[in-house]
Amino acid sequence: GRNAVRLFLPPMQQEADTRLALERGLRTALEQERMPAQFALHFQPLVSRQGDLLGAEALLRWRHPQLGELSPSVFIPLAEETGLIHALGAWVIREACAHIRAWDRDGVAFGDRLAVNVSAWQLAQPQFAAQLEAEVRGAGVEPSRLTLELTESALLQDFDSALDTLRQLAAAGFRLALDDFGTGYSSLSYLQRLPLDVLKIDRAFVSELHPSASTPLAGFIIDVAHRLGVAAVAEGVETVAQRLALERLGCDGLQGYLICRPVDEAGFRQWLAEREQ
Ligand code: C2E
Ligand code: CA
Ligand code: CA
Ligand code: CA
Repeated sequence: GRNAVRLFLPPMQQEADTRLALERGLRTALEQERMPAQFALHFQPLVSRQGDLLGAEALLRWRHPQLGELSPSVFIPLAEETGLIHALGAWVIREACAHIRAWDRDGVAFGDRLAVNVSAWQLAQPQFAAQLEAEVRGAGVEPSRLTLELTESALLQDFDSALDTLRQLAAAGFRLALDDFGTGYSSLSYLQRLPLDVLKIDRAFVSELHPSASTPLAGFIIDVAHRLGVAAVAEGVETVAQRLALERLGCDGLQGYLICRPVDEAGFRQWLAEREQ
């Protein structure tokens, strides 16, 4: 497939078997109403440079009956190749809205917004913006309470139609973040045309930050964000030195293990409660 000829030697055969098994598992988990048992959203808080809570990012987890917890970097690409991403993405949105409603009901102050990751394949669906708005409003949630995190590759496949969809999403009130910024190929002129609210600095640029770095690329990205009039959020902040460097560079938002690891819903509520004391 994909213009490539492959020889299936034993290790590759094994890999293919694993893939097939995963694909079958994904299909089953999605088809039968077993989803809540196997899939879950975990949450990672996002704080401002000053340390105030801004919100959280929802990160999908799949608890495979045999293989245990699988990383989305394993099963999201598979879901995309098989088209299952549409069902999975819809579930993520429904679940995110359900959590927002539950937190509101229980008076859990999680910040202004919840961020969800949206795949290129979802974005490319015709009517994506209108359907998403209807779904979110239907769930009793204002679109402005969601930030949609999109990757550069999602936008560059068909820039004009992506731009059109982004404009519709922005008009509906969704906040838009460009994820993993700096790892893709978007040119600055493209960037300027997108109705973005946030640039997320990829972890690769954060991990190279140290006190003596004279011209870190993260600083350049933060300047680009500010020139575009959007907020800069750093992901993967793991050390105090990185945090201090980002603060000095004027980064607006911080996310990473240093602040909190992604945690399940109960863990998130506990983190919020402990913070309040
Ligand atoms: P991402 O959007 O760039 O998410 C950040 C990843 O970095 C997450 O990995 C998170 O757990 C991890 N992370 C957070 N803080 C730190 C840190 O301080 N250090 C390190 N080393 N890692 C940190 P995760 O949860 O495995 O997700 C991987 C990717 O899968 C995400 O990357 C995102 O692109 C995708 N993904 C996750 N959930 C969804 C979803 O619901 N839908 C779609 N389409 N993609 C998703
Ligand atoms: Ca993300
Ligand atoms: Ca990211
Ligand atoms: Ca990343």
